Amino acid sequence: MGKLDGRVVLVTGAARGQGEQEARLFRAEGAEVVVADVLDDLGEGLAKEIGALYVHLDVSREADWAAAVAAVKEAHGRLDGLVNNAGILRLNALLDTSLDEFMQVVQVNQVGVFLGIRTVAPEIEAAGGGTIVNTASYTGITGMAYVGAYAATKHAIVGLTRVAALELAAKGIRVNAVCPGAVDTAMTDPGEGASPESVARLYRKRVPLGRIGRPEEVARLALFLSCEDSSYITGQPFVIDGGWLAGVSLI
Ligand code: NAD
Repeated sequence: MGKLDGRVVLVTGAARGQGEQEARLFRAEGAEVVVADVLDDLGEGLAKEIGALYVHLDVSREADWAAAVAAVKEAHGRLDGLVNNAGILRLNALLDTSLDEFMQVVQVNQVGVFLGIRTVAPEIEAAGGGTIVNTASYTGITGMAYVGAYAATKHAIVGLTRVAALELAAKGIRVNAVCPGAVDTAMTDPGEGASPESVARLYRKRVPLGRIGRPEEVARLALFLSCEDSSYITGQPFVIDGGWLAGVSLI
């Protein structure tokens, strides 16, 4: 018995990183998985490997959402789970952030989650209920210098999660958010010039558990929030950060 037997779950930004691990884990737990991304080659390859459906979905585009849901309904007849995982990060001081850059981040991270909830919730209701998991961040709970646009959208996602939980509970839909700290994906790749040892040293110093998170660990939290194990939980942000936000450390 898988924890998601009989479920049909769409994961956005699933071609790589945390979304990929969510797609893999959800499939292993029995769900029909829909891999959605703008990286078509990667996404199609993953979908083929795990036996999932791939849809091209730019989460910032309303028409893409409608087409994706239509494709899922044609393939599976229903859709009862959504993981809004797609996101982008731009590093910049607030005063150096152009309006274009700010809006680009808003469009993907914040509008993408709004469109996802608005498009998919009626389908989940029609399927008899289900779950939505939104990917915020620990920067959705606290501030972080040089990620102003990103942190603004992640705070917005926590707010949207709470409102959606209130409005959708009566329709049998639970809505929660994951708030990862630093997770080892392309998004946190420091690029050339940073040695792996210096990066490891940084996380050893900053994170109480002494290391960067693994995308598989976030996937397990998303699974918990998408299955019956969390049946009495809705409207909450769940921090998964190795203890980084636990408090000020003097050691
Ligand atoms: P990632 O860059 O590996 O994955 C992001 C995925 O989103 C990619 O597959 C990308 O193609 C996709 N994507 C980007 N724009 C899209 C769009 N417009 N439409 C559809 N897909 C799009 O990074 P990740 O760490 O796996 O990020 C997943 C989520 O986790 C993001 O929302 C990110 O903000 C969040 N997050 C990441 C970290 C971290 O440290 N890696 C920490 C907190 C939160």
